[in-house]
Amino acid sequence: MREKFYVTTSIVYTNTPPHIGFALESIQADVIARYHRLLGEEIFFLTGTDEHGFKITKAATEAGRNPKEFVDGISEKVRNLKKILNLSNDDFIRTTDQKRHWPAVKKVWLKLKENGDIYKKKYKGLYCEGCEAFITKKDLVNGKCVNHQKKPEIIEEENYFFRLSKYSKEIEKIIQEDKIKIVPQVRKNEILNFIKQGLENISFSRPRKDLKWGIVVPDNETQTVYCWADALTNYISAIGYENNIKKFNKYWPANVHCIGKDILKFHGAIWPGILLSLRLSLPKTIFVHGFITVNGQKISKSLGNIIDPFELVEKYGTDSVRYFLLREILPTEDGDFTYQKFEARYNSDLAKGLGNLVARVITLETKLKVRGGNLKVAVKNPKLNKVIDKTWKNYRMALDEFKFNEALISIWNLISFCDRYIEEERPWEESRNQKEVISNLLLAINEIAKLLEPFLPETSKKISEQLKTKKGKSLFPRLA
Ligand SMILES: [Zn+2]
Repeated sequence: MREKFYVTTSIVYTNTPPHIGFALESIQADVIARYHRLLGEEIFFLTGTDEHGFKITKAATEAGRNPKEFVDGISEKVRNLKKILNLSNDDFIRTTDQKRHWPAVKKVWLKLKENGDIYKKKYKGLYCEGCEAFITKKDLVNGKCVNHQKKPEIIEEENYFFRLSKYSKEIEKIIQEDKIKIVPQVRKNEILNFIKQGLENISFSRPRKDLKWGIVVPDNETQTVYCWADALTNYISAIGYENNIKKFNKYWPANVHCIGKDILKFHGAIWPGILLSLRLSLPKTIFVHGFITVNGQKISKSLGNIIDPFELVEKYGTDSVRYFLLREILPTEDGDFTYQKFEARYNSDLAKGLGNLVARVITLETKLKVRGGNLKVAVKNPKLNKVIDKTWKNYRMALDEFKFNEALISIWNLISFCDRYIEEERPWEESRNQKEVISNLLLAINEIAKLLEPFLPETSKKISEQLKTKKGKSLFPRLA
C-alpha cells in the first residue's frame, strides 16, 4: 500500500483579499505536496478559508455587504489562487460550509464537553480585536499586543472555557520530544518557552449578542463558538471527521501543517490540547514560515504596499512568481519583495540560466542532427551520473527539511555544470564526441525537468515537451 501524506495550509481569513504572504504559504505547501507525489505517496493537500468572526462582520459592513456575500466574494478569490499559482490542492474547505464543517465543529465541542474539558465561567480579561482572542499580560509589550500594536480592551462576560491547562505539561513534553516537530528550531524554542510558563484555560465561546457571525454552541443558543476552536477544526472536518470516518482514518494525522509565525501559539499549544482531549493523533510536523516585507516594510493596507498575487502573475507568469518566492525568500525567515529583486532573479536564473541552457541544447541537437532520442549513450557517462546523483541527494535532503531554496540551488548547480560542460566540450565543433556530449546534455535536461516539477510544474512540462518535439523555444523571455 502506498504511504499517505496529508499537508495543509492555514485557512485564509476572509476579511481582506489574499496577499503575497498567503501566496508564499500556499506555494510552499504545494511544493511539499508535489514532492511527496513525486515520491509515489498518496497525497491529500488541503487549503481553504476562515470566514467567521467579528472582523468579518466589520469588514462586510464597511463594504456595504452582508457577511455571507462578503465572504463568498473573498473565498472565491482565494479559491482562484489554485489556478493562477498552479496549486495542486485536492480540496478547499470553508468554515461557512454547513454540511462538512459545522457538524464537525459541533462534534468536537460535544466531545470536549463529554471529556470534562469545557466549562462555563464569568471572565474578565484583555481582549485584542486584532487577534480576536483574549490575551494575557505575557502577550503584551508596552501594554500593546505584540502582533497588532494595539491596546487590548478589558471585557467582562460569561463564556465557555476549555481546560487547556490540564494538558500543559503533556504538550510541553510533546513539543520538547518532537512528537510534534516544530520547524525551524527557533520557533520550537519560542513556543516551548511560552508553554513552560504554564498554559492557561482559554475562552472557547463568546456571547452571541457580541458575535453573531459564527457557529452556535451546540447546547446553548446564546453563545457562539470562539473563532479558533472553529477554524482549527478545518483540518479534520475537511477529511471527514464527522461524516467520512474511513477517509478520516486514512489521512489523519496531518503530516505537515504549514503556518505563519503569528499563529504558532494556536497550532503549537491550543490545537494539540484539543486533539489530546479528543484523543486523536497529533500532527507530525508544523512548518512555520516568516513574513514577506515589501521594500523592507511590513505589508499593510494603510501603507498601501499590498502586492496582489493576481497582478504579479499576470505580469510575470505563474512559474516566475513561484520561483522568486521559493528561491529568494528564505523558507523560515522574513524576506523582502521588491520588483528590482524580482526582475534580477528572473533574468539571471530563469531567462539566462535555465531558459538559455534548454534552448541552447535543443537547438544544437536539431542543428547538428545528433541524437536523437538515444539517451543510452549518456547513461554510460560516469561523471555526469555522479553529478546527477549528487543533485538528487542534496535536493531530497533539502526538501525533507523544507529548505526549498537549497533544493533549487542544487538544481541550479546542475544547470551550471551543464553550462561548463558545453564550454569545455564545444559540441558545435566537428568532433567524434558530438553525439555523446549532446546526449549527455539531453539526459541532464530531462533530469532537470523532473527535479523542477514540484517547483515550476508548467516549466517542467514545457521542457519535457521540447525534448520530445525537439523544438527549443525560449521559456522565459528576458525582461528589459
Ligand atoms: Zn493582537
